[in-house]
Amino acid sequence: MDALSAETKKASLPEILRVFWDAIEPQQWAMWTSIAAYIIATILPLLAPLYYKAFFDVVSSGAVRASVVPELIHFIVIVLVLNAGGWLSFRTGLYILDNLETGVMSRLRENAYNYLLGHSYGFFLNNFAGALVQRIGRLSRSFERLYDTLIFNILPLAINVVGAIVIIWLQSPFIALAMLIWVIVTMAGNYAFSLWKLKYDRRSAAADSATTGYLADAIANHPNIISFTGVPYESSGFLDVSRKQARTQRIAWDLSSILDGTQAALIVVIEFILFYYGIKLWARGAITVGTFVLIQVYLIGIAQQLWGFSRVVRTIYEGFADSEEMVSIMHAPHEVQDAPGAQPLKLEKGEITLRDVSFAFGKQQPVLSHVSLTVAPGEKVALIGPSGAGKSTLVRLILRLYNLEDGKILVDGQDIQKVGQESLREKISLVPQDPVLFHRTLMENIRYGRRDATDEEVRAAAKLAHCDDFIDGLPQGYDTYVGERGIKLSGGERQRVAIARAILKNAPILILDEATSSLDSHSEALIQDALSQLMKGRTTIVIAHRLSTIRKMDRIIVIRHGSIVEEGTHEGLLAQPQSLYKHLWDLQAGGFIKDK
Ligand code: ATP
Repeated sequence: MDALSAETKKASLPEILRVFWDAIEPQQWAMWTSIAAYIIATILPLLAPLYYKAFFDVVSSGAVRASVVPELIHFIVIVLVLNAGGWLSFRTGLYILDNLETGVMSRLRENAYNYLLGHSYGFFLNNFAGALVQRIGRLSRSFERLYDTLIFNILPLAINVVGAIVIIWLQSPFIALAMLIWVIVTMAGNYAFSLWKLKYDRRSAAADSATTGYLADAIANHPNIISFTGVPYESSGFLDVSRKQARTQRIAWDLSSILDGTQAALIVVIEFILFYYGIKLWARGAITVGTFVLIQVYLIGIAQQLWGFSRVVRTIYEGFADSEEMVSIMHAPHEVQDAPGAQPLKLEKGEITLRDVSFAFGKQQPVLSHVSLTVAPGEKVALIGPSGAGKSTLVRLILRLYNLEDGKILVDGQDIQKVGQESLREKISLVPQDPVLFHRTLMENIRYGRRDATDEEVRAAAKLAHCDDFIDGLPQGYDTYVGERGIKLSGGERQRVAIARAILKNAPILILDEATSSLDSHSEALIQDALSQLMKGRTTIVIAHRLSTIRKMDRIIVIRHGSIVEEGTHEGLLAQPQSLYKHLWDLQAGGFIKDK
């Protein structure tokens, strides 16, 4: 289970319907016409048995055969017209329905996707990508299933039952009453049984998810399976989940068979009862042969509709449960929002000020406490400190990836909580610790820094970031696809792509979060030149563990346990014999973690 399930409020039925309606609204006409078409398509054939009845009444009346032929032909022509009208209406409805459902499903996907993208950085850290993808797919598919069920099951069932019972009532109230009781008993029984059976269906669905999850995890971990000789172990693990799925599925299917069997027996019984009393009524002259035909035709029609009723109940429950998962995400407010009337950031100098900033993730220990810091326009500041000290969190707060709880962050004197988020992020180039790439070409990935850049500009940025060193060696060069999350590139290659993006973005503030940590010393030295060029005239914050890379920074800030403990230049901090910086520097320079 992902964190989301615990954090987001479950969406209510009206909220789910509202999300569906928003997607239907642009094609309302299609919805109403498809419903009207299917109502006509159900009513017209429902009237046909009346003419069969008349037909058989004439046939069995004992009249001279030749004399009744025109009348019989008249009846079958009416039946033909009714069925043809039904067919035409059904086909028209189907055409409109295809149009409606594909349109609505696509809008549901788009609405869900667009809303999802507005969620915060933290939201995506807390949720599995696969689960989110699945939810968007399920939302649109559940609409299709629910709408199909309404049109192809609920609507015809309601019309057939009401229509048939009213028509039979006019012939024989007794038989109509018997049919009504049968329908009510079957539907109520079916409904109760389906609800009771839902837990077995859910267990079967959960076992299916477990099998899928096991498969996905094992396939993703294939290198581990091979290198730790885990094939037999994984095979037996899979056997367990697969067998469990088979067991739960079998129970659910057996229960369905029991229901089907009971319904089939009920139909046999009701048929016998109706005919038994039908014979008695016929003997008394209360009904005709035609009425027998009428009852039989309606009985078969209703039985067919009722047959799938338990599936209808299950589909409705499952359809709403599936859509609820995504709708709850669509109703969860975006965690990081622009303040009402937020104006774009006006950046002139590039000064960054943190005033008494404190921050914690949820109810955990504070990550940052009372941090105050001013980075002057064009100043180059390095943040260093032990792992987990809060350095990356601090720069993420400057980008407003999280909402600030205590204190203020100002850029050129403007509170970042009050300016438009996009305008803030436009002014900052970030090279993250572990860059993630799109499964698109290298050209597209680098161009993401500035999407209107020309191929030449992309190549120039890539050259500065020394990307061409590896891109030129690829058979497809810049057109190479990099794999999911950039998996086909090494860590150092991905970092160079991220640096090229930042070069292309050319923003006035630069944040490098261990931007060269995956590079070998030679490549790092080369890229440091490019980065020094890039830093010129820009306010820069660099996070680094390799202290040799930050010696030339204007100021070094040492963070420990979420607080600033030292600050100064490289020389100044080294001159303090007890400083943490000197201790770390001595460790690295002394050969324990030698850099050059
Ligand atoms: P490193 O040098 O290893 O990158 P850092 O100084 O950049 O470390 P941060 O990444 O800022 O450290 O993390 C600070 C603390 O906050 C760590 O204890 C980390 O476990 C915690 N933390 C970071 N992100 C989250 C999160 N999304 N949810 C909960 N805790 C988090």
